[in-house]
Amino acid sequence: MSTPPVSFNKAAINKQAIVSQLLPFSCVDGPGSRLVLFLQGCNYQCKNCHNPHTIGLCDGCGDCIATCPDKALTLIKANNKHQIHWDKDRCSQCDTCLAVCPQQANPKVTRYTVEEILAILHHQRHFINGITVSGGEASLQLPFIIELFKAIKASPQLSQLTCMLNTNGSLSLTGWHKLLPFLDGAMVDLKAWQRDTHRYITGRDNHAVFKSIELLAQQQKLYEVRLLHIPGITDFEQEIDALSCYLLRLGADTRVKLNAFHHHGVVDEALTWPSCTQTDIEALAASLTQRGLTNIVLPSIYL
Ligand code: SF4
Ligand code: SF4
Repeated sequence: MSTPPVSFNKAAINKQAIVSQLLPFSCVDGPGSRLVLFLQGCNYQCKNCHNPHTIGLCDGCGDCIATCPDKALTLIKANNKHQIHWDKDRCSQCDTCLAVCPQQANPKVTRYTVEEILAILHHQRHFINGITVSGGEASLQLPFIIELFKAIKASPQLSQLTCMLNTNGSLSLTGWHKLLPFLDGAMVDLKAWQRDTHRYITGRDNHAVFKSIELLAQQQKLYEVRLLHIPGITDFEQEIDALSCYLLRLGADTRVKLNAFHHHGVVDEALTWPSCTQTDIEALAASLTQRGLTNIVLPSIYL
């Protein structure tokens, strides 16, 4: 699909995202070396989340301010609303604020405009292959992503950079159709095969995830399907025939990235779940390969 003509306006270029982290270089978030933006906020409540404080959005309650030993947090008023302000130069990264937040939010966020991210990309463009927007669930800030990717595609200096999305697949088809003209590819997490298992792990069912995967495959923009294997919890082994059939229908060379569950950063019930070993992953990979899938990618590390 060709990129439609672009017109910029000040509102578009000033659109802001709430960013929990900006990684200048990553080689595990899509093809090649990439700048990665992790956006704050998620619509899933995954029990296995490795960064649970990226789920919520701050409501400006102010509860974390007094707990900060470095006085790095203050409350400010912006657009008639209370908003937390984080002074990163004072912060010692003790993470006390994350532990006390009742919203699973993160006061250590930075608001970036499209224009500011474009300036960073101009600076880095000779050292990276593209940008990946990740989360939390990135697609919750879709208007920002669309304006950013649109601006990259329209810039003669940046248009060689690929624009990728890392997603839980919950975006509606209407949302995808708005993004697709400016998107080069997406990495989609399929967190479980059966709807009930998916709901148990994430709090939501997986109907939209299948729709997203199918649309992206049809549009040749499905970079990879990601399966996080949690032995005895996820159902990929029990449902291996149905899962393989589904992936084969997308194409035998569909890139399937296997990830191994580990306990780093998880809380509560997920701490009682078993870690996934190299043997577990290799067994799942062998089952997929036996059923005809040819492009299985194994984890680079096991913890
Ligand atoms: S980060 Fe959490 S505790 Fe701090 S102001 Fe926001 S919602 Fe309240
Ligand atoms: S992580 Fe930073 S902002 Fe949070 S409590 Fe510690 S010093 Fe304060």
